[in-house]
Amino acid sequence: MARLLIARLAQAAFLVVGGWVLAPVAHAQSGVATEAPYPNMPSIPAIGVRTAKYLDVPASAQGPAVDPAKGYRLQNFGSGLYMVTDNQIQSMFLVYDHGVVVMDAPQAYASSLRRAIAEVTDKPVTHLVYSHSHADHIGGAKALGEVPVIIAHDETLRLLKRDADPNRPLPTLTFPERYTLRVGEQVLELSYHGPGHVPGNIFIYAPRQSVLMAIDLVFPGWIPWRRFAVAQDVLEAFARVEEIRTMDWDFIVGGHVTRAGTHADVERQAEFYRDIKQAAATALATTKVGEGMNPLDKGNPWALFDDYIDRVAAQCVNALAPKWSKQLAGFDVFIWDQCYSMEQTLRID
Ligand SMILES: [Zn+2]
Repeated sequence: MARLLIARLAQAAFLVVGGWVLAPVAHAQSGVATEAPYPNMPSIPAIGVRTAKYLDVPASAQGPAVDPAKGYRLQNFGSGLYMVTDNQIQSMFLVYDHGVVVMDAPQAYASSLRRAIAEVTDKPVTHLVYSHSHADHIGGAKALGEVPVIIAHDETLRLLKRDADPNRPLPTLTFPERYTLRVGEQVLELSYHGPGHVPGNIFIYAPRQSVLMAIDLVFPGWIPWRRFAVAQDVLEAFARVEEIRTMDWDFIVGGHVTRAGTHADVERQAEFYRDIKQAAATALATTKVGEGMNPLDKGNPWALFDDYIDRVAAQCVNALAPKWSKQLAGFDVFIWDQCYSMEQTLRID
């Protein structure tokens, strides 16, 4: 009896379920007790659970090495078009006969962007194009120094006025749908296809080089950043990926992670989006609200849905892991976020 009690106490102190160590004790601060995990809990740790070792990054998701002394690398797309990246965030610049057009100025390598351009040309930066308003992509604009013309979508101007960030100077030229920038022999076609990631996020197409820059929508080789890259409208973000799929280009610059993308990358991401939509829809349809809950909580509607949504997300993660956990780098990092986001989108949008 005493031995059984000790065993029970040991179990209570460190309940080990599916590789997790859980302590079903009251939290000192809130007084809320934790319980055993839900049935059929995925082996991928849920949000808020520490991960001992994330899954290895597949070779297909790796990019060429960055020289640590420089902190960035250049990729030459030919005909004067270059990508700059530190293998985490990406921007571009285009050299024409009298100057340089910069597309985005990320915070991360704001201080080295001029140096990166100087590797290729001593011509002045005459134009800066903002893909969208977010600070991670254009928060290095001030550090780039005076640029005569800054081009962006109308919505980006509105958002930047609101944000009033001295590191993101206001655009001097905006447009509502399309704008073609012709500088010397070079052309950039800027176009707006509607919201998704954020209002005002544009496509920047270099026809001569056959390169499309479309930021925060496509993540070559990787699962998107959490909640479909914090898409303000998830279904619209999915629609942008479908548009990108059918467009004619050789390389896509997506704005993040390790390398430029190909059509195969976009096909794979579109397939992942179809799969997660299906997985979340199935989980929503087959999960019962309140099942297995403590009856004392059934008068608490927030609790009913917290429990329901957790079980939907768990089923969604389970459905996707066998096919995708080794195909998309960082699958384990953000799959819970994506499933929570997908179930919410399908339930209320
Ligand atoms: Zn963004």
